Amino acid sequence: MATVTLHNIQKRFGAVNVIENLSVDIADGEFVVLVGPSGCGKSTLLRMVAGLEEVSGGEIRIGAREVSNLPARDRDIAMVFQNYALYPHMTVADNMGFALKLKRANPADTAERVKKAAAILGLENLLERYPRQLSGGQRQRVAMGRAIVRNPQVFLFDEPLSNLDAKLRVVMRSEIKAMHQRIGTTTIYVTHDQIEAMTMADKIVVLHDGNIEQVGAPLELYDRPANLFVAGFIGSPA
Ligand code: ADP
Ligand code: MG
Repeated sequence: MATVTLHNIQKRFGAVNVIENLSVDIADGEFVVLVGPSGCGKSTLLRMVAGLEEVSGGEIRIGAREVSNLPARDRDIAMVFQNYALYPHMTVADNMGFALKLKRANPADTAERVKKAAAILGLENLLERYPRQLSGGQRQRVAMGRAIVRNPQVFLFDEPLSNLDAKLRVVMRSEIKAMHQRIGTTTIYVTHDQIEAMTMADKIVVLHDGNIEQVGAPLELYDRPANLFVAGFIGSPA
């Protein structure tokens, strides 16, 4: 587990400033939800933490390590996307163990880790199935399993539920929270859905045009919004 520190982060695409000067501290084991309207820079920020996008300025620290200039594979982070594309020709177990296989991990150790992750996610009986034989929710669980088996210091989620139907979204919210409670890994979860933010977060970071409008616990934001933007955004349905 680890703290995550974003210090004076900037991001430009050509002449366009997407993120100007953003700082946020995330505690060890905290579940932080980054919420804001479409296009405000959530994915860009997450991709910079993951190492999939370079920062234009500032520092990213995981624990005491400065990782801003490290390649993604050296950051000890696992990311779950909205389009979680499983390998169609591999079983659930092979999908989950693939990253470890690439790292030439011991096969018995990989099998053990896959089994453990499957138990956490209720996938024990589906390990020999192929993705086409799974429901949407089961596929999403496999995508999370792929992240868990790597035993990362930090989990990143980028709108992981936005392709699921409304009913399943509610179920998966509590499953992701339950998973977090079991393994306690520091998590940054991105969504544009206020309800998701309010129900899942230990701490919410409200983004607007690449700037932080407010940081606080869900009830704090609800009771004492810092400005009209936060009040309107948190107070209105998705
Ligand atoms: P969000 O995830 O909050 O919807 P993004 O981080 O995807 O927002 O995008 C933030 C802004 O950065 C948008 O205006 C988007 O068009 C722009 N952007 C994102 N990626 C690139 C890129 N590779 N090149 C140029 N502009 C980009
Ligand atoms: Mg996005």
